[in-house]
Amino acid sequence: MAKIVVTSGPTRQYLDPVRYLTNASSGQMGRELAIQGIKLGHDVTIVSGPVSIDYPREARVVNVVTTEEMLVATREHFRDATGLIGVAAPCDYMPHFIQSQKIPKTGNNLVLELVETPDIVATLAAEKHENQWVVGFALETEDRRHRAIAKMQRKRCNLMVSNSAAAINATETDIEILNADGMLIEHVVGSKKKAAQQIWQAITSYCAVDCARR
Ligand code: C5P
Repeated sequence: MAKIVVTSGPTRQYLDPVRYLTNASSGQMGRELAIQGIKLGHDVTIVSGPVSIDYPREARVVNVVTTEEMLVATREHFRDATGLIGVAAPCDYMPHFIQSQKIPKTGNNLVLELVETPDIVATLAAEKHENQWVVGFALETEDRRHRAIAKMQRKRCNLMVSNSAAAINATETDIEILNADGMLIEHVVGSKKKAAQQIWQAITSYCAVDCARR
């Protein structure tokens, strides 16, 4: 049995007390990965942004709102874990200033200055020790395979799962699982449950042996 951390769902970056930036991630892929991990006998912690789905009872669920909060909670739980599956779709940008009062409408355009949020997968993969592994996801609208491989190398992941925008907030998906050498291990079209089973099979085959190399 291993301790596994799964980041899941979207994050929110507030502009003012009522408005926020986010994306349409539902957390379904994170839920399926957690369910399969538990079936394999692992101790699963899910660090999740705001979602309306139910996670498995057997998982420890840590609720967060912002990308910064997701980074802090994931780092804390990854410290003594074996693996991290970064399936969340964290908000990549946050407002430079968060207004403490609701921004009033003026009849003019509103210009926002956004700054990048920390990349959780890249940060924690850079900090991981030799017995830990990190699986990343890459959502690309074009040139999927190459961009996913480049992302895996840049973020120092042991496996990368490439998917398309059609996977967001959907029950079905179309994924490619790529190993650390950029080789296609599996192409899965179908339910997120089926995708999760194949991802876990790849983790079991590749991650333990590969983690010392990254
Ligand atoms: O660069 P991109 O957002 O496409 O990378 C996707 C991968 O990086 C996913 O595994 C996602 O969970 C992770 N990610 C992250 N923190 C961010 C943005 C993405 O961990 N701020």
